[in-house]
Parts: sequence; C-alpha cells; structure tokens
Amino acid sequence: MFWNKEMETISVERLRELQLERLKKVVKYAYERVPYYKKKFDEVGLKPEDIRTLDDIKYIPYTSKADLREVYPFGMFAVPLSEIVEIHSSSGTTGKPVVMGYTRGDIGVWKEVMARSITMMGVTKEDIVQIAYGYGLFTGGLGFHYGALTVGATIVPASAGNTRRQIELMRDFGTTVLCCTPSYALYLAEYAKDEMGIEPSTLKLKAGSFGAEMWTEEMRKEIEKRFGLKAYNVYGLTEIIGPGVGHECQAQQGIHIQEDHFYPEIIEPETGEILPEGRTGELVLTTLTKEGVPMLRFRTRDITALITGECSCGRTLRRVKRIQGRSDDMIKVRGVMLFPYQIEKAILEVQGVEPHYQIILTRPHHLDEIEVQVEVSKETFSDDVKTMEGLKKKLEKRIEETVGIRVAVTLVEPKSLPRSEGKAKRVIDKRGLS
Ligand SMILES: [Zn+2]
Repeated sequence: MFWNKEMETISVERLRELQLERLKKVVKYAYERVPYYKKKFDEVGLKPEDIRTLDDIKYIPYTSKADLREVYPFGMFAVPLSEIVEIHSSSGTTGKPVVMGYTRGDIGVWKEVMARSITMMGVTKEDIVQIAYGYGLFTGGLGFHYGALTVGATIVPASAGNTRRQIELMRDFGTTVLCCTPSYALYLAEYAKDEMGIEPSTLKLKAGSFGAEMWTEEMRKEIEKRFGLKAYNVYGLTEIIGPGVGHECQAQQGIHIQEDHFYPEIIEPETGEILPEGRTGELVLTTLTKEGVPMLRFRTRDITALITGECSCGRTLRRVKRIQGRSDDMIKVRGVMLFPYQIEKAILEVQGVEPHYQIILTRPHHLDEIEVQVEVSKETFSDDVKTMEGLKKKLEKRIEETVGIRVAVTLVEPKSLPRSEGKAKRVIDKRGLS
C-alpha cells in the first residue's frame, strides 16, 4: 500500500535527477539566506554553482549539533519569523536546545512524509490511531498527528503519560494503531496485564510505530508477542523535520528514507570519510526541500548502514538498517567500544528475565567497571540462591560473548527498575563522579 505511489516507486535514475535539481536549489538558497552557510562555504572557497553532480555534495562542510547550538535560537532560519508557522525544539537536557522553525510549506512536507510512513504499515482512514508520543515542542506527538490527519484516520491524541487512561482508551475506543517509544509500549503492556488484569493481546491493536530511542530486533519480537501487533521502526530527528525522515514498510527489512526530501550519506564518524553502501557508519542528512531551516550535511550521530538491493514492497527509496545507537551513546570501557543495544540483545536472548535493564559505569580503582542490572521475570524470581546464581552466570556469559568484555550482572526484583513514559535512560555513567 502506498500513499504516493508515483514518488515511492520512482525510477532510481529519475530520483537522482530530482535530488540533484533540488540539491542545487537548496544549496543556493541556504548560501544566500543563512549567514552561517555563507561563512562556511567562503572558508573553504566553495560557491553554490560548484555543485554540479550529486557526488559534489562531498565538498559541502558538515553541520553539527554544536553549530546549531551556537546560533540559538533563530540563527539558522532562512526566512523571517513572519513566514514561520510552527516552532519545535529539542529538550536541551544535554546543553542548549536546538530550535527549528517550519514554514507552511515545511508542514506540508511533514504531512506528506508522515502520511507515507503511516500508510507503510497498512494503516488507512478506517483505523483508530492512538498517539502516545508527547505533544508539545517535542516533534513526536504533532508529527504523527499531522500524518494521521492527512491519511484521515481517527486520531486519539492521548500524548505521553497517564498510563491507566491510555489502556482504557485503547480498550474502550478499539484503538488499532499505537505510536510511542518502544520502552513505553512495553510498560503499557506490563501495566495492562499486572495492574488492570487486561491481557494486552486481547486489545484490537494491529500495528505500532515505535521510535525516538534505540531498540533491538529482540525488543521488537517482545512487543509484537505481548500485544499481538506488528511493530514498525520510525526514524526522524528534530533537526531534519521530526519523525517521518524514514519508516519501515510491511517487509520490516530496514527503514525507507524519504529520499526525495532527505538525502542520506554514511560517513566514518572519526575521519568524516564517505563510506560505500553497506558499510556501517554515521548517517548524514541533507534536507532537499526545507524552507524554514535548510540543513546541509547534518551529522545525525546515528549509527547505521545503507541497505543495497530492492525491497520486496516495490519502493525504490533506499533503506537504512535499524539505528544501532547514537555515536555519543557509545560506551568506552577499558578501551573497548560498545553500544547499549549489544547488551539489550544479549539480555533478551536469555530466558527468565524482563526487557528492563540499566547499565551502570563506575571507576572504583582507576579501572572501569561495568554493572548491568537486569530484572528477573515474575515467574522466574525466587529466593533460591542457586537458581538466581545460575541465571546471573548465564547472563554474564552471554553478554561477554556479545561485547567482548566481562561485566557484572546484578539481578533485581521484578518491577524495581524505573519505567519511562518517553525515552528510557539505559546508561548511568558515574565515572566522572568518584
Ligand atoms: Zn519496503
């Protein structure tokens, strides 16, 4: 099922022509209107007319999150505020927030790409879509809202939180599609069953669009099993447009990037060198049609790879693999690089534990220690020391095999780790504190 079949199945040749045409236009537009870009171009002696092929994109300097923070709040805007109809912003928990402004045209693009995203799951106007992403400056809630509105589905704008009410709404309204973070989906399933006596698979949910945090294939299976739905990966970020940069189709074999609006590249994060298709690295995106805040070669810090070959769904828009994490989520422990997703994967391969965990880093004697707290499932939890010791050993072995270093596992009682209504906090780094 397609929202815009003509564009989603466009020939690759024609798509490249369209991308080049749009790239030239946006480069000129950004250069003329945003002093930040003019300065960056002038520094390297680049003129907009030097971009003659798609390959020439490599001459354009990268834009980083730090660059955006420097010009807080409106320094990247290419139009006067009177042309901006909506503002979104990152939370700013790790520094100054990044502020994005949307023109009426940008909102139109957002509606289009989100309508495509929602339709990729087989969702139509017959569906009831419950949006449990936060509404507000965060792009999750309104992004899905615009998409569902465009498709004509029945929207339940629940926003994040109020867990009991979420489940009552799903049950009473017959919600068929759930949109939220994967960790919140899991919490909703757990809450329904344990606190309300509602078996989540008896709800009418058929599909869910989950994103805004890292999650594994194992976590997908867990969510699908509990709700009896198909769980899809959505990808996006505030700096580019919000959700809708890409979404999975029903083949669930990677995230289709809406390439006619967002041009993807994969680079080596340390050297900035462009990597060939198939290699894992950092995703870099260029907005091809954005008017409010055009983004040229934005370093997303998200680690993934472009998938080569056609998708069975018929879409020609290229795909990226499930995001493995942000390059700044990468944990360096005793010289070894590892990602939280590797630990999540290992944990979920072991029977008897819940998909709730926390990674705690300390440096007690000038040497990094890594502790992984894992919740034991209600059925497995017991006072029998031997059983618990066996489970702990099994987890430690599985994690060591996956990440290549020894970790200490601490088993904790069911429901003792914090639950999140938005993005889960997986890593607590106490190494700077001692
Ligand atoms: Zn596909």
